[in-house]
Amino acid sequence: MTLDYNSLLMALAVSATCLAVTLLGSWFARRSETFLLSCTLGLVLIVSGIVAYGLYVDNPVVAFAVVSFVLFHAGFPIVWGAGYQFRAGRLPRVAVVACALAAMLVSIPPLLIGYDGLAFIADNAAIAAMLVSTAYQYWRARSEAPAPLTGITALYCLTAISFVLCAAVLIADGKMVLGVAPSNWAEDLSLAICIASMTGIGALSLALHQWRLAARHRLDAMTDPLTGLVNRRALFDRYGQGLMGPATAVLIFDLDHFKSINDTFGHAGGDRVLKVFAAELAANCRTGDTAARLGGEEFALVLKEIMPGRAEMVAERIRKAFAGREIYLDDETLACTVSVGVAPGRSTPMDFDAMLSAADKALYAAKRAGRNRIELASHLHAVPAGAARTCS
Ligand code: GH3
Ligand code: MG
Ligand code: MG
Repeated sequence: MTLDYNSLLMALAVSATCLAVTLLGSWFARRSETFLLSCTLGLVLIVSGIVAYGLYVDNPVVAFAVVSFVLFHAGFPIVWGAGYQFRAGRLPRVAVVACALAAMLVSIPPLLIGYDGLAFIADNAAIAAMLVSTAYQYWRARSEAPAPLTGITALYCLTAISFVLCAAVLIADGKMVLGVAPSNWAEDLSLAICIASMTGIGALSLALHQWRLAARHRLDAMTDPLTGLVNRRALFDRYGQGLMGPATAVLIFDLDHFKSINDTFGHAGGDRVLKVFAAELAANCRTGDTAARLGGEEFALVLKEIMPGRAEMVAERIRKAFAGREIYLDDETLACTVSVGVAPGRSTPMDFDAMLSAADKALYAAKRAGRNRIELASHLHAVPAGAARTCS
């Protein structure tokens, strides 16, 4: 049994429709992933283009070819836009429209004046260019999910090559006027590649969607929703196993009399204060440091590559900056303070639990000593800002 070209075209249309429906379904499940919606729209246009092209293959009326060109050159730029949107988070509407218009402008006029051979060359070349650009978008994003993104890139490139071949064969034939849809080995090969890569791209796009979903869930599980800082679990995941040497320090912060802020300004007011403090903490974080919310009004800062004596300076800077912040709540200005326990790294490496509990003891001492101060867990370092004593 042999399958004619048109039956294969319809097979491609059906597989693209199935893919569009699946992508739409995935978008319904997570609407923030709008690239899925753009991809669906692009595919619907391409499927409609395939149907129009199928009509042209059977009955070469120029109008069918024009309609198919319009639909293809609207669809492929949107598929490119979806790739861009996947990577950058926004659909480049102007560029999509510009690409669509440019592709239509180079391919449709030759068709209208009877140079359909030339028109099909331009058509194939424009589609190949859009496919290569789409591949490039996914390639640039490959660090997010290397396996599916490399696969998608390869499939888009393969499909682009098949369109380049179609254009090349037409150029080699040198006929500017065909009168029918082009029919040659490159067209057959391209169709077979399109059917195969459509299935592959579909499966990988869904894998990608799942990958991103799982990564989001992992991130959500590690992030404190109120402040956006990492949570206690993430902090222990990061440092719980290893040992901490002299270049590391652990700081614990506890807001002073926070309960009374809640009592006076309500829970929402308290939350505002927590966010302000978290922002202060984050602002004092260098690359490699970690600011975390341990729970309630208790925070931790892990400092890496820190010189001796610097940890307490950082603590003091944060304490001072926060005490100086004016927080506006219910038309009132509120000042809030924080107490800090500092555990600088020692020459004998300690595990994270030990560092944390040393910092916690120091914090307790800071509270007992009157709050709004820092306390050192070791006796090794001079305290710069007058407010701190040491405890053992
Ligand atoms: P101290 O100076 O000794 O630390 O006193 P404090 O009032 O800050 O400490 P305490 O532990 O008595 O109170 C902490 C309060 O933090 C009690 C709790 O209701 C509140 N809290 C815990 N989590 C949240 C939160 O997510 N939002 C708000 N607004 N309040 C919280
Ligand atoms: Mg507390
Ligand atoms: Mg407190």
